[in-house]
Amino acid sequence: MSNLFFQSLSVNREDKQKIFGHNSLVIWLTGLSGAGKTTIAKSLVKKLHDEKINTQLLDGDNTRLGVNKDLGFSEADRNENLRRVAEISKLFIEAGNVVVSAFITPMNAQRQMIREIIGSHDYFEVFVNCTIEECESRDVKGLYKKARAGEILNFTGINAPFENPDFSDLTVNSKDLTVEESVEQIYQLILEKLKI
Ligand code: ADP
Repeated sequence: MSNLFFQSLSVNREDKQKIFGHNSLVIWLTGLSGAGKTTIAKSLVKKLHDEKINTQLLDGDNTRLGVNKDLGFSEADRNENLRRVAEISKLFIEAGNVVVSAFITPMNAQRQMIREIIGSHDYFEVFVNCTIEECESRDVKGLYKKARAGEILNFTGINAPFENPDFSDLTVNSKDLTVEESVEQIYQLILEKLKI
């Protein structure tokens, strides 16, 4: 570590943002499995893309199939999974993108770590709030059933904790809102932040 030196680059974030015509930002969606993070993220990215905003969606399943395929679901691995994704989100910020990151992110300490890595100014946290009963009844991937049967250890909400966020920038109640309504709430609040 002591032999490493941070290098400044020839083309910086501001240069890229000027070409794209908007600021970069990370929108981090936190919530239980099945709460609707990926569904809302996909719809939000489509809306932003249609408005000619450069986007990148990062999703828990996809990153675990790729860059994080060496990681499991122990506490240490979950922290490392999120640390890496926060660093990747930050790289996309430097590239001038609006990043939508959909990860359960169960603990306040993890959300705090992510906010510190990305920087408060560039981080917009959305709590996709949905009751465990509703998530379990949706059970899109059949994971709650497996967790109840004891086939999955450390499954958030069943045999691993989820702390409701202390400091989210926005909470969307995905049980009561349509996907479009959740997206619209997020969109209206980030619009100002995207202006150069
Ligand atoms: P997560 O990424 O949080 O695990 P997903 O988006 O993969 O959740 O799954 C949520 C499921 O709930 C999807 O099948 C989605 O169609 C469904 N769903 C039903 N109503 C809503 C809603 N109002 N908001 C978001 N998702 C909803």
